[in-house]
Amino acid sequence: MLDNIFSPIRIGTVEIPNRLVVPAMVMNYCNIDGTATERYIAYHEARARGGWGLIITEDYAVDPKGKGFPNIPGLWNDSQIEGHAELTRRIHDIGGIIFAQIYHAGRQTGARVIGSQPVAPSPIPCPSIREMPHELTAVEIKEIVEKFGDCALRAKRAGFDGIEVHGGHGYLIAQFMSSYSNKRIDEYGGALMNRLRFPLEILANIRLKVGSDFPVMFRISGDELVPGGRTIEETKAIAMVLEEDGIDAIHVSAGTYGSAYAIAPPAAVGHGWITGYAQEVRKVVDIPVVTVGRITDPLLAEAIIASGKADLVAMGRASLADPDLPNKAAVGRCEEINFCIGCMQGCMGMISLYQPATCLVNPTLGREDEMRILPTKTKKRVFIAGAGPAGMEAAMVAAKRGHEVRLFEKSGRLGGQYYLAAFPPAKGEIAAFIVWLKKQLADTGVSIHLGTELTEEIVSRERPDVVVIATGSTPAPLNVPGKGHAVTAHDVLEGKAAVGRRVAIIGGGMIGAETANHLAHHGKRVTIVEMLPAVARDEQDHVRLFLLKELAEKGVTIYVHASVIEVSDDGLVIERGGRRETIGPFDTVVTAVGLQPRNELQSKLEGKVDRLLTIGDAAGVRKALEAVAEGYRAGLEI
Ligand code: SF4
Repeated sequence: MLDNIFSPIRIGTVEIPNRLVVPAMVMNYCNIDGTATERYIAYHEARARGGWGLIITEDYAVDPKGKGFPNIPGLWNDSQIEGHAELTRRIHDIGGIIFAQIYHAGRQTGARVIGSQPVAPSPIPCPSIREMPHELTAVEIKEIVEKFGDCALRAKRAGFDGIEVHGGHGYLIAQFMSSYSNKRIDEYGGALMNRLRFPLEILANIRLKVGSDFPVMFRISGDELVPGGRTIEETKAIAMVLEEDGIDAIHVSAGTYGSAYAIAPPAAVGHGWITGYAQEVRKVVDIPVVTVGRITDPLLAEAIIASGKADLVAMGRASLADPDLPNKAAVGRCEEINFCIGCMQGCMGMISLYQPATCLVNPTLGREDEMRILPTKTKKRVFIAGAGPAGMEAAMVAAKRGHEVRLFEKSGRLGGQYYLAAFPPAKGEIAAFIVWLKKQLADTGVSIHLGTELTEEIVSRERPDVVVIATGSTPAPLNVPGKGHAVTAHDVLEGKAAVGRRVAIIGGGMIGAETANHLAHHGKRVTIVEMLPAVARDEQDHVRLFLLKELAEKGVTIYVHASVIEVSDDGLVIERGGRRETIGPFDTVVTAVGLQPRNELQSKLEGKVDRLLTIGDAAGVRKALEAVAEGYRAGLEI
């Protein structure tokens, strides 16, 4: 079935053993001076061991003033080479192939990262960073061209098998190539060939320094997806010029920071949504073409290659979620893959805060060494209360370490409230993580007791060595008069509450807004009342963008800065800007006013078991990202 993705291909002088690529993704694991850390190396080692055909590192800055994030790698001076040479040595020892991506962020950075004014072809701020860049002079352009060549040579000296020049995603090279950001009236602006002068000078400088036998890829956005940005037709023309100029492969992505959702699309975007751009480019070049864009399943990658849309498939966040994806696919164990669910909580959610990347479904990401599962020396009896993601994760890790684990769940199913999050549109993949955990529990022999609440009596009778309380949270009550006929968002999502046609949702956080979307998709006329200035503020930006678009398209009415004073028979009495009004009428009132920990068992068991751990929402309401990580750590600590 998967013959295409497991066939080799050449990029220049290097043979790539299969078609599955880890593309460049900002991880923020390096030292602030761009040198490699053990964490950075271990992250790549895990992917090399997992069987990826080609690993492309995150972007190495060619100049410290070209860094887009604080802790990305750099090869702007010779002293940085040794640490990165250690990386390539260790990847080669495993049999992996690794290219360094090199770049300059141009205007897509700011003083907070580089300590000075960013630079650009023209003095126009990036719509996301919003800092006025310095317009590069012709002399400064030549200096940056040299820096790209020097950086490429350092990458070669560090032992990388090739490089990828980042000409996509709105960074400096892309800024020059696009009339969206390049308004110059010298030889670097205007006609397409003028706008290509900067990348062509860079590629010539690189070739001069690394020679003709060192593989050089180029990454490009097929469409910038911004008004006046480059479209696929111009991209095809550029690809033809670059091939003529001697690049060895082209990697076709999409977007700029003005369309950042396209660079890292959330679950609302379809799988393989930009393969069409790669297919178009492939029609006009003979070098290998790499595609990318929410491709999370090896079967999908196989279909893309089989249908001739691309030669290689980059699976970025899929590689974060499960570094062993290729090895599992190669032996037909696709059901064991821990799939990326497009939640954005750990990857983009952390990166946008300039923090190291993490992953909701894979807490070991970036902690590969310290979170290794090692067998226990003392087998213990472990009872876990609550089979939400925290409890399931703790059970899995403890069982893999050799403990005897029993998992108790009061309801009749696994997944806790996290499972309900899968019900709104564009959230269905959340369920895949529960499916994966369920299989892990079955494979590791965890004894599961559904419909059974872990009680003080059971603990007194059975005397386990360790009890883990992972009982999650419950919806917070609505403290206003007349709330008698209100139902909770959880009951609505679970299908337990009858919902009329006119619905008011009190609380427009993530749960309220997603429930509104869910109901609006089923033909309900929905109104959200939110105290804060905006709804869904606790969603990651890219996820929120699509959610708000959906709410607008479905005609959901939103009141912000609004407090509910009373739930009356006529509707809701709300207060906005010091004035009271009644809105409605409504057939159903849904509350989504927050969650509160459910952990009554904790006080009952204190002092009665050798080890008592409380994790996830039971310890304090947070996101699933934290709950899963806590579950994993609890499993390691037992
Ligand atoms: Fe995928 Fe979510 Fe992990 Fe990011 S945090 S890699 S979106 S599962």
